[in-house]
Amino acid sequence: MIIMAEHAGFCFGVKRAVDAISEALGKNSEVWTIGLPIHNPQEVSRLEAMGLRVADNDSEIPSGAKVLIRAHGEPLEVLERLKARGVDVVDMTCPFVRKAQEKAATLSREGYHVVLLGDKNHPEIKGILGHVVDKNNAEVIANENEASSVKFHPKTALISQTTQREERLEKVAGSLVGKSQELRVCNTICKATAERQEAVRELVRNNHLDGVVLIGGKSSANTGKLRDILEAEGVNVLWVEDENETEENSDWFTDKTMVGIAAGASTPEWLIHKIKNIIAAKQDSQGVLIH
Ligand code: SF4
Repeated sequence: MIIMAEHAGFCFGVKRAVDAISEALGKNSEVWTIGLPIHNPQEVSRLEAMGLRVADNDSEIPSGAKVLIRAHGEPLEVLERLKARGVDVVDMTCPFVRKAQEKAATLSREGYHVVLLGDKNHPEIKGILGHVVDKNNAEVIANENEASSVKFHPKTALISQTTQREERLEKVAGSLVGKSQELRVCNTICKATAERQEAVRELVRNNHLDGVVLIGGKSSANTGKLRDILEAEGVNVLWVEDENETEENSDWFTDKTMVGIAAGASTPEWLIHKIKNIIAAKQDSQGVLIH
């Protein structure tokens, strides 16, 4: 039997952006993104075969070309530079990321010292910071320890990267209370990451599984986090990136009658179905009841 995690695969924002890229590639021979549109090599290969070009930065994109801004978003100055050069910009920034960008812009304009909670090297945080009006009155911190070095400001606004945990936002907010006369806390956390993590816990706790096949890119941080959670739950995990790895690990399936399937937020649905069918065929050949 195969049991799927309740939330698996693309989150809303990634699906929206990837669908838009696919649609644009159906109408144009070439479409650009800045950076990989998704941390999944199979999906990137599929899009590249359709004509996707991935640039390292905006200066590589030719004038007159079409660029789709990925779900992470971009700094305002990048969007303005592209438009000034006559690049056709289709902005597919996730609406939840857009909300964080707008909060950063508005509160900075109102004179708040903007504190962004997140990874300073992550494109989403770079994009949000790129919407802050007064860059000299903003900073990025990674956790509550770094919050202790934030200086006193009369007005402070705390804004979170969408993938942060609420417990961390609460701790950081607590650390900043004494560092401002007025503290605005914007909960810009998206539930998609937490939902996928809770879904794998429930998958293991609600079923007597012999193992879980985790589908996702090996460079996908959110898939790695799902692996950590599954292993902490004490379940046998097979992490595969594609159908070939599933076939290569045929021995893993021997005598496993109850198999769960989980997938990271960057794993496309077509790949999940493909691997699910392979597992079903393996179980069928072993005489296991298929779900
Ligand atoms: S994780 Fe949330 S904020 Fe990020 S792209 Fe997906 S839906 Fe949007």
